[in-house]
Amino acid sequence: MKIANRMENLSPSVTMAITALARELKAQGKDILSFSAGEPDFDTPEVIKQAAIKAITEGYTKYTAVEGITQTKQAIINKLKRDHNLDYSLDNIIVSNGAKHSLFNLFQVLIEKGDEVIIPAPYWVTYPEQVKYSDGVPVIIETEDTNNFKITAEQLKNAITEKTRILLINTPSNPTGAVYTKEELEAIAEVLKGTDILVLSDEMYEKIIYDGKKFTALAQISEDMYQRTVTINGLSKAAAMTGWRFGYLASPKTELIKAMIKLQGQVTSNVNSITQYAAIPALEGEADDTMEIMRKEFEKRRNIAVKSFNEIKGLRTLNPDGAFYLFVNIKDVSNDSIKFCADLLEQKGVALVPGLAFGTEGYIRFSFATDLKTIEEGIKRIKEFVENK
Ligand code: PMP
Ligand code: GLU
Repeated sequence: MKIANRMENLSPSVTMAITALARELKAQGKDILSFSAGEPDFDTPEVIKQAAIKAITEGYTKYTAVEGITQTKQAIINKLKRDHNLDYSLDNIIVSNGAKHSLFNLFQVLIEKGDEVIIPAPYWVTYPEQVKYSDGVPVIIETEDTNNFKITAEQLKNAITEKTRILLINTPSNPTGAVYTKEELEAIAEVLKGTDILVLSDEMYEKIIYDGKKFTALAQISEDMYQRTVTINGLSKAAAMTGWRFGYLASPKTELIKAMIKLQGQVTSNVNSITQYAAIPALEGEADDTMEIMRKEFEKRRNIAVKSFNEIKGLRTLNPDGAFYLFVNIKDVSNDSIKFCADLLEQKGVALVPGLAFGTEGYIRFSFATDLKTIEEGIKRIKEFVENK
């Protein structure tokens, strides 16, 4: 069968593919430990589940407005005000099927052939693929672990051309856990002043941050940044709601939101009505206590995982400020992260994601969104694997 040409340039999601492979091997009875998925092992907080049950019981099971029900959008507005003192109105918000869908909507309605989107590497696997699928050109800025995997104002200046349409910033970052400070974001904002460049701020891991560090939203930096920032967020990670599919996008540009509603209205319509009702208590802060318990547990796991990896001769990792991944440097033992991960899975039954999938060779991504016992056993196997190389 002839498949459309546009599919030829689209690579499958490596994170999804490895997670599926690990699941399949497990189902075959193999002893597999998977650290591949960016998915919390915790259950969705009870208050959220109860809101979903109530929505079903009360019959909120019909189509809703494409962009989301008013109460849910209002809860998003309240959240952005409460957390970042940002003001949005109902026509500044669209609810989509996960943040992945929000990103897709944005690129589809904004990008014309040849438009450039600046993406710092290491990047989450999906960004460049969606940009390419929208006929855009991903422009990658390589970051260094010596700068905690963050771009500098100078690098940004050098990457901007007259074709630059969007700068993508993901803080805390998947896969490195890097969190930009307010001062670093101010330096970025300074470079953008006077340009037409939009900023896509993916704040998915905003609530998963460690050592008392502070999260700064890009739209908070200045009025200029507020106007040019499109904020994307969701509940998959912080509220352990990966399967519910809830993401949202906020921008003061109503024409942008309108275009996305038009697109979404022809593609998926509204997000599952029950999910939209379930999201309200999460956005209103009613699950904050449970989310804080999860965050603390992630912090504990991070501390143990960082220490254990750094005790393996030949491997080293930074101590990430947020998210639930370690981006581990394997350069002293391998310059081929795909082979490293394939051999590790075959020989030790440990599933990780190769750095190359995130645009950076010489690293592997280890997700610590799983229980401590599994983490300890996994790192023990990785140690044996590396020592036998
Ligand atoms: N952004 C980042 C940085 C992510 O890691 C993910 C992972 N799922 C997403 C967005 C998308 O999340 P979801 O579609 O589940 O809302
Ligand atoms: N974002 C998560 C990850 O990086 C989930 C999988 C995906 O959507 O790519 O593992």
